[in-house]
Amino acid sequence: MNLLNLNHLICSKKLKPFDLSKFILKKIENILFKNYFINIDYNYVKKQCLYSENLLLNNKHNFLTGVPTSYKDVFSTKNIQTTAGSRILKNYNSFYNSTFINKLNNLGVINIGKNNMDEFCVGSNTFNFFFGVADNSLNKNSTAGGSSGGSVFLVSKNLLPFSIGSDTGGSVRQPAFLNNIIGFKPTYGLISRYGMFSYSSSMDTVGVFSKSVLNISLVLNAITGFDIKDQTTFNLTKEDYTRYLNKNWLLNKINFKKLNGLRIGISKKFFNNTYSFLIRSNIENVLLNFEFLGAKIVFVDILFFDFIVTVYNVISSSELHSNISRYNNNFLFNETSFFKNKKNFFNSLSINCKNRFFIGKYLISSDKNKKYFFLSKKIRTLIIENFKKNFFFCDIILLPTLSCNSWNSLNFSFNKILIDKYTSVSNLTGLPSVSIPSKIYKYKSFNFCKGFQIIGNYFSEARLIQIIYEYKKIFL
Ligand code: GLN
Repeated sequence: MNLLNLNHLICSKKLKPFDLSKFILKKIENILFKNYFINIDYNYVKKQCLYSENLLLNNKHNFLTGVPTSYKDVFSTKNIQTTAGSRILKNYNSFYNSTFINKLNNLGVINIGKNNMDEFCVGSNTFNFFFGVADNSLNKNSTAGGSSGGSVFLVSKNLLPFSIGSDTGGSVRQPAFLNNIIGFKPTYGLISRYGMFSYSSSMDTVGVFSKSVLNISLVLNAITGFDIKDQTTFNLTKEDYTRYLNKNWLLNKINFKKLNGLRIGISKKFFNNTYSFLIRSNIENVLLNFEFLGAKIVFVDILFFDFIVTVYNVISSSELHSNISRYNNNFLFNETSFFKNKKNFFNSLSINCKNRFFIGKYLISSDKNKKYFFLSKKIRTLIIENFKKNFFFCDIILLPTLSCNSWNSLNFSFNKILIDKYTSVSNLTGLPSVSIPSKIYKYKSFNFCKGFQIIGNYFSEARLIQIIYEYKKIFL
């Protein structure tokens, strides 16, 4: 679903926002049992449709007016319940909207519901024990990825033009990869996190799912920017993320090859633990394709690449502990009876959350924090400096999104550390990165996804969009 086409239909009054939302909600009714949504409020959808039709009547419309979308349930919304995928918050009503949701609401975007997710964003499967398991959109019984797994289904089935999730260690890029769509994680601090439930505050970012990169650039145009309520956002001049589309990389008119001059960084370390042959061969193909478009390949050294997941796990677990212990009012760990009491906060968490929470508690305890948490933060600074240096020699870094193509959601035995190996890099450093799908590989009615990930320099979103646009034009 292309936003420009949709906008044309809506503005020329061939399609009413109300009819479009009704059509999508009808489709969802049939698949509701698949747990892609946690909350849908039909009356609220109606109200939003009236508002967007009013905007159209008064000629105050924009590219996004009347367009339906859905948000991961981690973003606070005033009119629908917000649960963060947790049983503890099942009846929670927020009294304010997230900043970016306010921006989209003002433009007349219609929120059709809140998507399922892993509890407090911890996990890579959308295995929600309370709200159900979300399935993959391509294969039965294989995982949708996570933690924003509920948000991808409708986008992947072409029912929504875009959807919004959050990315702490790959939650946008992993499900996007496994469902064959684009997952875009911008620079940390580009989009306001106000109103979002925190998992790891120093790494959380709002991310966008879509099938078309043009949609992503239009959505970014609408939701990025400084927010006085979020101290981590940057006060930069407003950018137009579509400005490089259809231009050469070097911005001159002489080159016939569109990406002539682009330097792609790659490291041998990326392939040390790549188990799947399909992933390796796909990356080699992608590099050849880029060379065909005029790009050059440069070898870079990524410092501590094999420890990046460990550093990520230490920092995210510690921050998770301090972020979610606020939902608890009585927390004593010393008594063994505590673990047996089923009614307390700790025991009502899902297994994933429990593990991370427990480890986080240990890592930031006053006598251990120097050894683990602060050491990890020091290593993180070194990793960031190394990446800054690498971007003198290359414009983007290309790496796999995941080290396998899919895994069965029923007997999940894939090495959990390897899952976040390639995606957590850009969260630790705060760099923007995108997962881009390649062609699907079919084997006996099973669809294997293929794709790759690119990481750009800070605030180079417009350039990343240009690269994906040129690449997809020819190779997809
Ligand atoms: N799988 C990762 C984790 O559990 C990433 C989750 C996320 O990005 N929210 O930490």
